[in-house]
Amino acid sequence: MLNNLLLELFYNFIPKTECQHDKVSPMSDGEYCPDCGRYIVNEWYITRCKCCGVRLQSVKKGESIIPAEKFCHNCGGSDYYLEKLSKIDFVNINYAVLIKRAMEDGTFVRTTQCWQDEENEGSPVLKLLPFFEKKHNI
Ligand SMILES: [Zn+2]
Ligand SMILES: [Zn+2]
Repeated sequence: MLNNLLLELFYNFIPKTECQHDKVSPMSDGEYCPDCGRYIVNEWYITRCKCCGVRLQSVKKGESIIPAEKFCHNCGGSDYYLEKLSKIDFVNINYAVLIKRAMEDGTFVRTTQCWQDEENEGSPVLKLLPFFEKKHNI
């Protein structure tokens, strides 16, 4: 049991290799992430009470967006629905959850090809890799 706990702690400390696109501004509709080069679209979601429609403080839990509180502060209902905001404003930003979605291949592919011209004219010198002879000591 202790081992499981340690293992869990250990895994929590492993840095995530997946890019978090931290440099992409939350206020832009979409831009390229300078860290991973993928096109990132900001999507804002809020949850609303199904009963009275009031907006609820929303949190991200795993891959889903849920209300932070179990019951609606206005009517006490527990049902909610998810609403995608087309634009964030200063009222909704306090309730909404931001999802930075990377456009995957096929949706938003931009290919850039670069050529680098040889700076020094003339024949390029090819460097040969040093050859190491394996010595067998018997
Ligand atoms: Zn990124
Ligand atoms: Zn309600």
